[in-house]
Parts: sequence; C-alpha cells; structure tokens
Amino acid sequence: MATGRTTSANFLTSKDKEIIQLCNQISNCIVENIPTMKHKKEFIRVSGKISETRDGGLGLGGGKLQRDALCTRGRQGKAPYSNRNLRWHPLVVAETPIPFAKEIDHIEIEGENDAQTLIFVIRDNDERLIKYPSEKVHELPERYVVLPKHWIDHINTLKYWNDTQWTQNSCVITAFEACEWQHAVESYAVLAISVAVVFYGVSFRTIYPKVTEILRNQNIDRNISLPSRIFPTSEIDFISCPLCKTSIAGNPSNLDDRERISVWQPAWRSTKRREGEDSSIQIMHISPLVESEQRHNAKNVRYGHRWCNVAMTDHSLDETLDFMEYIVKAHNRCRK
Ligand SMILES: [Zn+2]
Repeated sequence: MATGRTTSANFLTSKDKEIIQLCNQISNCIVENIPTMKHKKEFIRVSGKISETRDGGLGLGGGKLQRDALCTRGRQGKAPYSNRNLRWHPLVVAETPIPFAKEIDHIEIEGENDAQTLIFVIRDNDERLIKYPSEKVHELPERYVVLPKHWIDHINTLKYWNDTQWTQNSCVITAFEACEWQHAVESYAVLAISVAVVFYGVSFRTIYPKVTEILRNQNIDRNISLPSRIFPTSEIDFISCPLCKTSIAGNPSNLDDRERISVWQPAWRSTKRREGEDSSIQIMHISPLVESEQRHNAKNVRYGHRWCNVAMTDHSLDETLDFMEYIVKAHNRCRK
C-alpha cells in the first residue's frame, strides 16, 4: 500500500498556525510544571512535541497529543482521504447532507494521466463559481461537504486511478472525524492534563487553572469563550478510563498483569510492541463518532486503556455495558 502524505501537509493558513500555537502554549505550560528533567524530556518526545503541519508530521513529527487531539486518523486506499489532517480542515466527505457544512457545487478533473487533479467547485455568496484544486482546498473560507451525488459523473474515471493519482489528491477528511477548531484545542487540553497528571507527576490543582487560563486568553476568535461549558472540571474525569473507571496509569479493571505469550519479532526492526499492551493508552470517544454531529470535543474525548477501547469497538458506553452485562450473566459470574 502507498504511504503517501496528505496533500498540502506542510501548508497551514494563518489561523491554522495560531491554533497549533495555542496547543504549543499548553504543551509548554505542562513542561514547565513537570518536576524532573527526565520526565520533561520524555513528555516532549512522546506526547507534547508540536509539528507545524496538517498531518502531525512524519517519523519524528508531532507528539501523540497532537496526532490524537488535532488530527484525523491515518487513512489510505483508493479514496481521496487525507492520510491524517487537521480535524477543522474545511473539506469533508459524507454519505448524507450534514448541518455544519455547505454542499460544494460539483467536481471536475483536470490534467492527464498521472497528473490528474480533482477540482472542487463551490458557489460563493455572489453565485460565482470558484475552483479549488486538491492542493488548495485547505484555503476554503468555510466548511464544505462533498456528497455521493458529486462523485457520480467521475466514478468511471476514478475507479482506474492508481496509488500515485490518489496520493496527490488525498485532501478530504470524513465528516465524522471533523470538528471545529476550539473543540480540537479543548480535546488537546483534556488529554494533555491527563498525561501530565497521570504519568509525569504534575499536580492537578496546579495545572488545571494554568491550562484553562491559556484557553481563556485565546484571541483566535474573541466570539468564542473558552473553556466551554463542556470542559471537564473534576480530576477523576481526567485520570480514569471511561469504560473500567480505574486510573489509566494502572491495568484495565485493576486486573493483574497477564502473562504475555512471546511472539517472535524481527530483531533488526524497532517494534511498536508497547502500543499493543492491554494497559497502553489510546484515545477513546465515549459516544462513537457520527457524520451528523460533531463529537470530537472535551466532553467526549478521553484517554482509556487499549483493552477497554478495543472492547467498545464502535459502540456507545451504554451499548457496551448492556453487552457485557449479558455476557457476565450468561457465564454466571454475577458475584452479588
Ligand atoms: Zn479501562
């Protein structure tokens, strides 16, 4: 499979830069409050590093916080998905019309063979048609959606596109991963406070007022007041796994360590083994993401155990609990 980068990954609008800079301020504030030099360095390397790109950068790019809070998931395949992009990126694709984006007018394809480019044509407020080629869609002045009807005329061309052609047109994000910039920033703040308190010895009472002060002082858009009403206030919301309710520092459901069966790994490769452990932390959405509503926000985004995240698949917390309750009863494991 191709490992192409998101189209225009290095191009940020001035607003994009301000938003990423705001997150950098949060990250720097956490670094200042980490007590030891060793932990400061580790936080920067693993979590807090900022990359001034749309996709979080390649290899030694941005840290986990930037990828999880600000970027969509890495996606590839024969589709115009960005391989990671900012969650407030203005061009989204959806199956049905969505309330938070205008429909584009139509799609054109320009160029020949491997140089073919998708052109997204919008109608502005004066009814003029304006063309945005794939490498310029990040400059769209507001959010637009591309629906199935817009692709119909081009399906017979697009189904023959190769990986090169798709890579240079990987410029859209899915509607269900999209959110407004302020929700991405607040998610960044929530996740940053979580890791700072749980893994780097930062006091919640010290860091919470400092981070919320940074949010309060943002001047990207003075009509938006942060922290918003959905920003969590109690420490327990930051340190516990949404599913099993135990600290994300410990094992899922406080179970003992499992004895892991050894599996051969090529010794000449650096492995990502730790990410596969039950207790490693992953970003979780308490209510699953959907196209019709933006749910990547401070109320819904948390870190949780990998095991717990995998157990939820794409279900809500309630659905997961109903499912587990049934299983526990079916095995006569109710202890009360
Ligand atoms: Zn858990």
